[in-house]
Amino acid sequence: MLNLGIRIEEIPKIGQAYQKRLKKLGIETIEDLLFYFPSRYEDFSNIIPIEKVKLGSTVCVQGKIVEVKHRRTFKKLMDITEVIIEDQTGSVKALWFNQPYLAKSLKENDLFCLAGKVSLGKDGIYLNNPIHERVNKDNKLIHTGRIVPVYPETKGLTSRWLRFIIKPLLANFYSKVPEILPLEILKKYRFLPIKKSIWQIHFPDSLELANAAKSRFTFEELFFLELFVLKEKFRLMQTKAPACPMDVELMKKFTSSLPFKLTDSQKQCSYQILKDLEKSVPMSRLLEGDVGSGKTVVATMAALSVVKNGYQVAFMVPTEILAKQHFKSITELLRNFNLKIGLSTSKEGRIYKDKETYQTSKKSLLEDLKNGQIDIIIGTHSLIQKGVEFKQLALVVIDEQHRFGVEQRSQLVKNDKLFPHLLSITATPIPRTLALTVYGDLDLSLIKEMPKNRKKVKTVIVQPNDRKKAYEFIRKEVKEGKGVFVICPRIEVRSFKLEVGIKNPNIRVRTWDDVKAVKDEYQKLSKDIFPDLRITMMHGKMKPKEKEMIMQDFKKGQIDILVSTSVVEVGVDVPRATIMMIEGAEKFGLAQLHQFRGRVGRSDMQSYCFLFTTSPDHLNRKRLKAIVSSNNGFELAQKDLEIRGPGQLYGTQQWGIPDIAMQGLSDILLVEKTRNAAKKILENDPVLQNYPLLREKVSRFGQRIHLE
Ligand code: ADP
Ligand code: MG
Repeated sequence: MLNLGIRIEEIPKIGQAYQKRLKKLGIETIEDLLFYFPSRYEDFSNIIPIEKVKLGSTVCVQGKIVEVKHRRTFKKLMDITEVIIEDQTGSVKALWFNQPYLAKSLKENDLFCLAGKVSLGKDGIYLNNPIHERVNKDNKLIHTGRIVPVYPETKGLTSRWLRFIIKPLLANFYSKVPEILPLEILKKYRFLPIKKSIWQIHFPDSLELANAAKSRFTFEELFFLELFVLKEKFRLMQTKAPACPMDVELMKKFTSSLPFKLTDSQKQCSYQILKDLEKSVPMSRLLEGDVGSGKTVVATMAALSVVKNGYQVAFMVPTEILAKQHFKSITELLRNFNLKIGLSTSKEGRIYKDKETYQTSKKSLLEDLKNGQIDIIIGTHSLIQKGVEFKQLALVVIDEQHRFGVEQRSQLVKNDKLFPHLLSITATPIPRTLALTVYGDLDLSLIKEMPKNRKKVKTVIVQPNDRKKAYEFIRKEVKEGKGVFVICPRIEVRSFKLEVGIKNPNIRVRTWDDVKAVKDEYQKLSKDIFPDLRITMMHGKMKPKEKEMIMQDFKKGQIDILVSTSVVEVGVDVPRATIMMIEGAEKFGLAQLHQFRGRVGRSDMQSYCFLFTTSPDHLNRKRLKAIVSSNNGFELAQKDLEIRGPGQLYGTQQWGIPDIAMQGLSDILLVEKTRNAAKKILENDPVLQNYPLLREKVSRFGQRIHLE
């Protein structure tokens, strides 16, 4: 291990500039370098006779350099290095553009390998910018004459340089890389052993071997991820939580107090949760349901059960607007149950008791919380900070976007108190592969249906010519007292973008980009299009107070059209809104568009979602079509996964999961395989006592990723 731990600063060939670039990629040691894998390969293993070089193919030839010329084109825009290479069967020209330094390394009479595409020029075919490599006495090639690794493109780190650095390191250190996968797994899945894998993934003898090595490493990384997640789950199962037996009569009283009937899904999910709460092992459950499916009432029922068992509940949401909205709806839902409910925002506090709401100072609110004078506290994630103490917290509810780990939960547990249950709520559909990996420690409850009174939102891609029609339609709806959202991708006015010049690719041209901005649209709509309507804008740079007032006005019907950035994405409930108009729709992910759409259709009125796009891009069109044809968040998430790859999925980029594992995340069979393998190991050895190397690796893996 010691040797592999040698830092890159100590490798003579890597100068300071390169050290910096490598560190940007998280590469600090020899081991990191050896585990920096190619993203693809170029097969130059077949060296062909020059007479066989044909236009349009990619070839590799070997021969003597017989001529080297260096010139500039007429207008001095292009610098050209020209070489003629010859073998027994013939000769061919090779050209490099704008790489003047090449002429120095390509010397006449030297033996070279050239690999690249064959193009057609004024006087015949030539090799276009081929990869070049001098053939040494020992005839060992790195860049040509073999299957050549191509590494992920990063500024200032070329594949050529990486090959040059990695090859000798590999030769010296590959035998030191320890085998981490347990023997039984290697055997069962017939994986290549580590030493062979690490060699073959960089410099494969065949594409089959490269693939075999890659499958091993993909498995390995997913395996670490599974072990990490499941290990935490096993650890949690060793702790104790307050058991909260369910009072069936009370729950019946609650459901019959509602102004609506629960859907079957809501009933099933509530039951699962209430059953979990009865146990003395901490619950870790994810409640997942499309926007508007009615998750709040399910969570509220859980909270009621916990409180009636004499414990407290913390309810956390991402923004203050939502905290206030939840405070309102939860106090409403629990009006007849005589609970004390607190709202904590950055500045103030509110308490609801005896059917009244009172203002209070933050200090006294926290005091009440500590003394058990508050049953349910609602706030943003700042709720869980130092200084906030509970008398006996038994349930943490997290609404949207927050991954609450075992670590964070244990911070809430003071003085040998019991571990709280966790209910995480999300409208973000989680594809099955992610549910089994990144969310693999959570049990899942799914709300599959919408309340019965809902009509499906009609979604249309509006062609530029039909913009006027859309505006007329909006006017008609507003006259009937309905609300309209207009969403733009950004706040500020237009900005520049740089484009490659058409005539001369070396010159970059500044053009205006055409991304719609809230401020622009607001001006346009309020001055030119709807001067007679009440229009307001909202964006993330406004104070929470301002945003809240705007939302209240919009809710009450004092604003007709709300022009906004994506700040309205999560959870906002304005039943009178029936139109969601999205500008620059291609700028948003499918999951996000679906979230926007969920802001309307929250009553029994027919609602509409208008998508505007200027993008001719084929993939964008495909995505937008998907959102028109499907109203199902899960389907859309799966489509996004297929069309854009897992890297684009909500949150995944921030997780820091290695690329190779990310790729594995779209493969459900592989995910199931690794999960079973990890489970099997942990069932016999929950802390990996018999696998010290694996244990260390998993713990390091855990430090690298942040699943939020
Ligand atoms: P979300 O799942 O997006 O958080 P909410 O919990 O905010 O949805 O519910 C959206 C709206 O639907 C709320 O006004 C809520 O009172 C209402 N609602 C919830 N369940 C039902 C139901 N079964 N029937 C009718 N309306 C419901
Ligand atoms: Mg909600």
